[in-house]
Amino acid sequence: MNVFGEMLIGSAALRGTNGAIRAVNPATGETMEPAFGGATPADLERACALAWQAFDTFRDLPLAERAGFLEAIAANILALGDELVERCVGESGLPRARVEGERGRTVGQLRMFAALVRSGDFLDARIDPAQPDRKPLPRVDLRMRNIGLGPVAVFGASNFPLAFSVAGGDTAAALAAGCPVIVKAHSAHPGTSELVGRAVRQAVADCGMPEGTFSLLYDSGREIGQGLVCDRRIKAVGFTGSRAGGTALMRLAAARDEPIPVYAEMSSINPVLLFPAALANRAAAIGSAFAGSLVLGAGQFCTNPGLVLAVDGPDLDRFIAAAAVALADSPAATMLTPGIRLSYEAGIAAFAAHPAVRIEAHGRAGTPQQARATLFSTTAAALRSHPALRDEIFGAASLVVRCPDLATMRELVELLDGQLTAALHIDTADHAEARRFLPALERRVGRILVNGFGTGVEVGHAMVHGGPYPATSDGRSTSVGSAAIFRFLRPVSYQDFPEQLLPEALKPGNPLALVRRTDGVLDAAA
Ligand code: NAP
Repeated sequence: MNVFGEMLIGSAALRGTNGAIRAVNPATGETMEPAFGGATPADLERACALAWQAFDTFRDLPLAERAGFLEAIAANILALGDELVERCVGESGLPRARVEGERGRTVGQLRMFAALVRSGDFLDARIDPAQPDRKPLPRVDLRMRNIGLGPVAVFGASNFPLAFSVAGGDTAAALAAGCPVIVKAHSAHPGTSELVGRAVRQAVADCGMPEGTFSLLYDSGREIGQGLVCDRRIKAVGFTGSRAGGTALMRLAAARDEPIPVYAEMSSINPVLLFPAALANRAAAIGSAFAGSLVLGAGQFCTNPGLVLAVDGPDLDRFIAAAAVALADSPAATMLTPGIRLSYEAGIAAFAAHPAVRIEAHGRAGTPQQARATLFSTTAAALRSHPALRDEIFGAASLVVRCPDLATMRELVELLDGQLTAALHIDTADHAEARRFLPALERRVGRILVNGFGTGVEVGHAMVHGGPYPATSDGRSTSVGSAAIFRFLRPVSYQDFPEQLLPEALKPGNPLALVRRTDGVLDAAA
C-alpha cells in the first residue's frame, strides 16, 4: 500500500499538521486508513513559492519535453495498476469497470494534450511582417503567440475521481499550456489523490521538470483552498462541484487585488426535448434509453438528463410508461459520499412534497447507503411559476414536464438557466419545428445533441463541455477536450524584435515547423 496520508509539495512528501481528513467508504460507511493531515498556511506558501519559481522555466521548455512529461504521467498512472483501481472503488463507491474506464479516459486525455503540445498549434503563432516602404507610414513587425497564464489551482471533482481530479482534465490542460499546477485534493478521495499525485511527482523528477511544477495539498477546512485562490502567484482556477462552492471561489477570485479567472463547472439539468413525430414513432424506445441514461453512474454526471419537455398526450404517456418499466428494474446504487446521498434524498423529498409534482416511477430500493432513481412529472404552469423545480438534484432524478403545445415548450426553454447539454429527439417530420428551438438553445447550452443523451462525453477536439452560468462560470470555454487548453493561455505580441530575442515559435525560418498565420493567412507546416 503506497498511501501514506502525505501531501506533496514539490519534491517533498510530508504529513500535514493542520487537522485531519479521512476517506469514508460510501458503500459501507466505514472510515478508511490512513488519516491525511491538512496543510498549514506555511505549506500553502511553500507550494505557491515553488510553483512561481517553476513557471518561467517550465513554460519555456521545448514542446517535446513538455509533451513527454504528460506522457510520463499517463504511463505512471497506468503503472499504479490495481492499487489505484481498488483505492478509487473504495473511496468513491463507483463500480470497478467504471473506474477502469475512467482511468483509460484520464490517460487518453493526457496523451491527447501531449500530441497537442507537440504540434504547437495552441501557440496560435501569427506574424505580420514589417512593411518599411508602406505609405503613408511604414508598418512595424508584429508577432504573436500564446503563453501560459501562470500557476493554476485545481479543485478536483468528486464524481470523476480520476478523469477530473489530480491528473484530470483541468490539470492536463494547465500543464499542457505551460502552467504549474497546485491541486487542492477532494476530501472524498484523498488516497486516490495521493496515488495519482505520486505518479505526477515521479514524472516531474524523471523528466527533469522544475520542482514546483506540481504540488498536492489537503485541506481540513476551507482555509487552504480559499488561501490558494487568493494567493497572488495563482493566476487561474479550475473547479468542478457545487454551485455554492464554485460561486464562493468566483467571489474570492474577483475580490483579489489582481482578479483572476475561475473556470467552475457547477450545475446543469440538461433538458431533453421530445418532438411529436419522434414521440409518435418511438416513444417506448426513447423512454427506455432515457432511463438508461438517467441511472448511469447513479445519476452522478453533470450531464445527467434532469428535465424532459414534451407535448402532453398518449405518446408522452407511452414514453413515461417505458421509462417507468426500465427504472423499476434498475438497482439502487451507492452514491459518491454520504453527504451527496443525503442531499439527493433531500432534493427528492422536496419534489415529492410539491403539490404540482407527481411521482411517476422509482428504481429498486437498496441498502440504507444506497439511493434509487426517481422520475417525476409536472405541468408547464408549475415549471413556470416554481423556479425551484428547475434546480439540479444531483443524482438519478428527472422531471417530465407535460406541455400543452410546442409554443409552450419553446417558452419554457427560454426560462431555463445555462446548461451543459440539451438533447433533441426528432424524426424528419420534426426538423422544421426543431429548427425554431435552436436559437434559444444556442443561447443557453454548450452542446446540443440529436437522438441521444448528454451522458457520455467524448474527449476530442470539437467537444464543448461548458455553457453559460450556472452550468459554468464562463461559457466561452470548455473543460473537456483539447480546446480546454485555451482557458490557461494568454496572447503576447512582440513588436520589432531582433531575431535573437524572438521566441522560437516566431523566428524567421520557422524552426519549430509550426503551422503559422502570416499576414492573416495560414501557411503550411514546414
Ligand atoms: P463541492 O462541495 O462544491 O466541493 C468541490 C471542491 O471544492 C472540494 O474540494 C471542496 O472541498 C471545495 N470547496 C467547496 N466549497 C468550498 C468553499 N466555499 N471554499 C473552498 N473550497 C470549497 O462539491 P462536491 O463535494 O463534489 O459535491 C457536492 C455537490 O456538488 C453535489 O451534491 C452536487 O450537487 C454538486 N456537484 C455537481 C457536479 C456537476 O458537475 N454538476 C459535480 C460534482 C458535484 P472539500 O473536499 O474539503 O469539501
